[in-house]
Amino acid sequence: MKIGIDIGHNAPPDTGAKGIKFEDHLTTEVGLMVMEKLKALGHTVVDCKPQKVYSVKQSLVQRVNIANSARVDVFVSIHFNAFNTRAYGTEIFATSSKGRQFAKPVLTEIVKLGFFNRGIKNGFHLYVVRNTSMPAILVECCFIDSQNDMKLYNGEAMANAIVKGLTGELPPPPVEPIPDETNNPDTSVLRLQKSLNRLKISDKDDKMLDEDGDLGPATNSAIENFQTTVGIQITGVASKTTWDALNEILSKPIVRQNHAAGTLVQYLQYRLGADMDGIYGPQTELAINTFQRDTGLVIDGIIGPLTWEKLIG
Ligand SMILES: [Zn+2]
Repeated sequence: MKIGIDIGHNAPPDTGAKGIKFEDHLTTEVGLMVMEKLKALGHTVVDCKPQKVYSVKQSLVQRVNIANSARVDVFVSIHFNAFNTRAYGTEIFATSSKGRQFAKPVLTEIVKLGFFNRGIKNGFHLYVVRNTSMPAILVECCFIDSQNDMKLYNGEAMANAIVKGLTGELPPPPVEPIPDETNNPDTSVLRLQKSLNRLKISDKDDKMLDEDGDLGPATNSAIENFQTTVGIQITGVASKTTWDALNEILSKPIVRQNHAAGTLVQYLQYRLGADMDGIYGPQTELAINTFQRDTGLVIDGIIGPLTWEKLIG
């Protein structure tokens, strides 16, 4: 398909609404991802947003002209709503029955994300919908002045929903760089519980933690166990030192003999059953070799990606 994507506004003086967030920012965020994802699925994409305009009217006229002269198969204008902070949900405008056929699955996919279904509405009053010569839809993704909608909103999910609705296909996931856990800013209780479970640090009753995001006695005792294990001050509170130690382990750095010692080596010694002195000496190397032999890895005494995988997944 040849699809015209119209990123709403973003052409001063044609600027979007303001609420908790800016419409211009969100239409750009979603629109650019929709274009990339459609291309990744093999579709031809025409960017209908004008470069430079002198009036709002001219902004709209140019969008229509770009779509009409490129003879796109369908025109998709991306917008966000704003009203009285209490209105919420998703609506799509279309005029022709063909336009409605495009609108329906897009609306269904967005509603699946949890947004209230405000339905498909007659877009006859909307310049770009009325004047484009092919089936056209204008998606009001959700309300930027609604707490409810802005909490639900995720740009990537919204873009995926639009692409799935238009094409019936889910876009391939983007190839993301492996996040560097060393600087992961997420210090939520939920991530703490997941991390401790992943690191096989149990609570005072030797149980894995419930991953419920609630800080309670079990989680506090598991934090204490972790602090004891890696040799930092035992407070039962997830301090910065605690997170630094956790994140260092989760970032799975390559560890070899004479590697700077500390909490990381002490954690490895705990897992490998070696003396927990935090120093990678011959005894630790022996324990690593044994672990590697037992798990079918190459025995090299180096904690690399494969050994980490066996230890913490
Ligand atoms: Zn708008």
